Amino acid sequence: MNETLSGQMTIRGISGSPGICIGKAYIVDREGVNLIKRYPVSESMVPSEIARFKNAVTKAKNDHAKVIESLDHDLGENLNILETHMVLFKDKMLYGKTIETISRDKINAEWALRKVSTQVKSMFQQIDDQYLKDRVNDIVQVSDKIMSHLVGAQDIKIRDINKRVILVAHDLSPADASQIQLESIKGFVTDRGGKNSHTSIVAKSLKIPSVLGLGRATVSINNDDILIVDGSSGIIIVNPEEDTLFKYEERMARFEAYRADIERDSHLPAVTRDGISLNLMANIELVEEVVSAKDNGANGVGLFRTEFLYLDLKRFPTEDELLKKYKELVELMNPEPVTIRTLDINGDKVNPYLDPVEEANPALGLRAVRFCLENEDIFSTQLKAILRAAAFGNIKLLIPMISCVEEIVRVKKVLNKAILELEDEDKIFNKDIPLGIMIEVPSAVIMAEELATHVDFFSIGTNDLIQYSMAIDRSNRRVAHLYQALNPAVLKMIKMTYDAAQKKGIELVMCGEMAGDPINIPVLLGLGLTNLSMNSASIPVVKKMIRSMDFNLAGKNAKKLFEFQTTEETITFIQKEYKEILPYRETED
Ligand code: PEP
Ligand code: MG
Repeated sequence: MNETLSGQMTIRGISGSPGICIGKAYIVDREGVNLIKRYPVSESMVPSEIARFKNAVTKAKNDHAKVIESLDHDLGENLNILETHMVLFKDKMLYGKTIETISRDKINAEWALRKVSTQVKSMFQQIDDQYLKDRVNDIVQVSDKIMSHLVGAQDIKIRDINKRVILVAHDLSPADASQIQLESIKGFVTDRGGKNSHTSIVAKSLKIPSVLGLGRATVSINNDDILIVDGSSGIIIVNPEEDTLFKYEERMARFEAYRADIERDSHLPAVTRDGISLNLMANIELVEEVVSAKDNGANGVGLFRTEFLYLDLKRFPTEDELLKKYKELVELMNPEPVTIRTLDINGDKVNPYLDPVEEANPALGLRAVRFCLENEDIFSTQLKAILRAAAFGNIKLLIPMISCVEEIVRVKKVLNKAILELEDEDKIFNKDIPLGIMIEVPSAVIMAEELATHVDFFSIGTNDLIQYSMAIDRSNRRVAHLYQALNPAVLKMIKMTYDAAQKKGIELVMCGEMAGDPINIPVLLGLGLTNLSMNSASIPVVKKMIRSMDFNLAGKNAKKLFEFQTTEETITFIQKEYKEILPYRETED
C-alpha cells in the first residue's frame, strides 16, 4: 500500500478482469451476521429483549412469505422445502428455546439464538437418519434469516443495487458476482480471491474491471471514496489526486477505443496467415450470455458451467427446470454445438445451501464429479435433462474433475441408467451425444491414453490443471505468483494430453482461461491445438492474434519452448518473437 500526502492511496492486488473504471466506493458488508457479541440483559429488560427477538422472527417470516408468493407454484418438492421453513420460524426447538434461553441466561437475543441453533444443529447431526441430517441446512437458513433482522445487518442483494458504484467487498462469491447488474455496477474489488478464481471469470464475461486479493481494502476504503480500478494492472487508487484522475480518464478512453476496435473484427473467421482454421468457442455461466458469445463471434459454446443455476437458486433444480434452460440454450445456439458440463460445485463454488459440510481443503474435497457420484439422484436428474435437451440441438456432454478411470466408468453406469429410465418414462431424448472429460487433474494427464479409450473428447481445464499441478489454491492471493500458465510443467502436461488425444484419435479442446490470453496463443498453436474455448470477451482479441500468426512457424517455435527451464524464459521468448502482434497493453508507472 502506498499513500501520498494528499491522501491518495494505491493498493496492489491481482487482476481479476481487464479495463479501467472510476467511481464511488460502495462497501458490501456481509460480515454482520457473523460478528455476534454476547452481552448480559438485566431482569427488567428481559421482556423487551424477547419482544425484540419476536419482532425479528415476524420480519423474517414476512420476508419468507413474500419469497414463496413470488415463486412459480409448479416447483413441487422445492416449494415444500420453503413451506417447511415457514413452520421452522415458530418451531418449539428454535423459537421456544431461544426465548427460554434469553430469560434463563439473561443474555441478548442474538447470543441466545446462536447458542440454540448450534445445539439444534449438533443434535440433528448425531441422528442416524440422512433425511434428518439434511434438515440441519434448513435450521441454519432460518436462524440466519432471523439473525440478520436482529443485528440489523443489511442483507445486501447485489441484484438490487441501483447506484452507479464500484463494489468493495471482503469476498464475492461467483454467484454474487453473477447477480451484478451492468447498468449500475462499474466494477468491483475484493480483499480475497486469486487469479482465475470463478469470481474473476464471471467479471471477465461481464466485461467489468475488477481487482481481487487486495488484502485489507474493506478496512482502508470508506463508502463514497473515489476509486480508480485498474483491472489490467491489478491495482486500485483510492481518492486520487487530480492529475492521477486525469491520467486514468485518458487511459480508460484509450482502453475502450482499443476494445471497440478489436470487437469490430470479431465476426471474421479465426484463420492463421498460412490458412489453418481454428475453432473458437465461448465459456458461459448463464444462458443469457449466449448473446455476447454470438456477438463476439463464437463458433458454439465450448463450456457451459451449469453450477451457476444451482448456486443462484440456492437449491437443486428439478429435471424440468433444467430441461427448460438447456433447451433454450441449444435452440439459441443451433446448429452450433453446446458443451454442457455437469455440476461442478464445491472447491471455490461452495454453497452451504447445497452442501453444508465444511471441508478443510475444499479444492481437494468432494467437488464436481466426486460430489455427483456420491449424490446419484442429483446427478441423474441433470443427465436426464441434458439427454432430453439433446433432442433439440447439438449437445456434447462434459464431465469435470475426472481423476481416474474408475470414475468415468461409474459415470457411464449412471448415464446408462438415466437412459433406461427415460425410455421407461417414454420421454423424447437423444442418447447419441459425444461424451468428454475435463483434463484438469495431473493424474488424468498421466492416464490420458487410458482415459481416451472411454470417451469421445478431452477438454483441458487449465484453471484447475495449474492449481493442482503447481499445488496452489487458485483463490489464494498469497500464492498467486505461482499461478503460471506458461510454466514448463504445465506446458509439458498440455503436450502429453495432446499426444494422447492424437494417438487415440479423439478430439481435444482447451477451455481454461489460458486459451483466452493472447500471450499464450503462439504456444497453444505451436503445440497443435485448434479448438479453443474461452470467456467470450476474450474471443475478439484472440482472433486478432490468430489472424496475424503463422501456424507452421508457431509449431517450429514451440519446439524451443521445451528447452526452457523457467516461465520467465518462455515469456521473454514470446514477447520478443511476437512483439509486433501481441496486443497493446499500457504499463503502469
Ligand atoms: C478449468 O478448470 O480450467 C475450467 C475451465 O473449469 P473451471 O474454471 O470451471 O473450474
Ligand atoms: Mg475446472
